[in-house]
Amino acid sequence: MPRKILRNVGYGWPFCGPCIACGGQTLITIRTDVVFLEHEEWKHFTNTPTREDEEPDMAPSTLVQAKDIESMYIDGEPWMWTTFYRAIIHRLDIDHLGISGITQGFMEFNLAPVPQVPRDPLKARIGDPYDNPIGYLVHAHCWLLVDRVVGMELVDTHLAIFVKAVARFWAENIEICWVLPVDNCNDKIDRQIWELEHYEKTDAPSSMWKNPAIVPEIQSIIEKATQTRCTDDRSQHVQPSMVSQIPLEVAIQITDMTKRASISDARNLLTAFGWRLPDSYWKNCSRMDLIFEYNDLDESDHPVDWQLLGLATEELLGDSDWYDKSGLKTRRRVFQRLGQIKAIFLDLIKKDETDHVFRRRLSRRKNFA
Ligand SMILES: [Zn+2]
Repeated sequence: MPRKILRNVGYGWPFCGPCIACGGQTLITIRTDVVFLEHEEWKHFTNTPTREDEEPDMAPSTLVQAKDIESMYIDGEPWMWTTFYRAIIHRLDIDHLGISGITQGFMEFNLAPVPQVPRDPLKARIGDPYDNPIGYLVHAHCWLLVDRVVGMELVDTHLAIFVKAVARFWAENIEICWVLPVDNCNDKIDRQIWELEHYEKTDAPSSMWKNPAIVPEIQSIIEKATQTRCTDDRSQHVQPSMVSQIPLEVAIQITDMTKRASISDARNLLTAFGWRLPDSYWKNCSRMDLIFEYNDLDESDHPVDWQLLGLATEELLGDSDWYDKSGLKTRRRVFQRLGQIKAIFLDLIKKDETDHVFRRRLSRRKNFA
């Protein structure tokens, strides 16, 4: 029998609860000051210690713009994104479901997480709050992925059905949920041991779990590919030869083979022969299904050196050590889960619409009876 794992949350230390999009923890932090240092105009809110052995003061709670948190990547603390989340809140008094603003999971001295979410979705609360969370949690950055995969307009229009879809998905897939909710613990299971074993099985994120929405290495590739002049000038520096005039299909085959051995050799080969393969070829090599930043770039009017971008992307993704610890791996997982949630969501919408038509017909018949 499926176990209900989502409820009005607040699972207790050390987690606030699982994110409905990725199933990962919404972690808590004691370092409320870290985020304040990311923006010049926020620094005055906190007292940053001048000595290493000095504890920072807790920064008081303050409201900032949600978009400032969504675009934030804290270099020294790449896991910190997991502490920011929104909640889908059911206000029982007016029977209304709505998505909240962003808050940060924060650990009080009594080890209880005491987050409080702002009601305005465009706002983010940072600093030291005092209240209990109510709602279904979602990491602030995973919420951006919900928009990418499911579409915010559809979610907004059918929020209650979305919550049902999410609840059904996680109830049926508890084994891939990275946090065992307190509800499902019993005396026979030591929660911590269970979690450690579970982590090994599910390849769950560690404390170095990276942000799935912001990947600095991808941003850096985009920067280079949009700074370089994207013209055929490169071939003009190479003396025309037989090899620079060969058919495109042959050039692609040779490039493919060389890439399999080494991206760096392929880059040298393309430069030496003055080959510029079509943008469509490089877009196909650039995992645009996963790296939505490239789709955004493609849709913009900005000139892009797709050859540079494609080679750099393949080089980066070929580094399995990097990929395993990167936000892209987390993103792939979230996309998979959201894809399944979306399928359930669309089914439920369809069923709801069919039920609605049926109820309308029934009510018309009753009126005529
Ligand atoms: Zn998440």
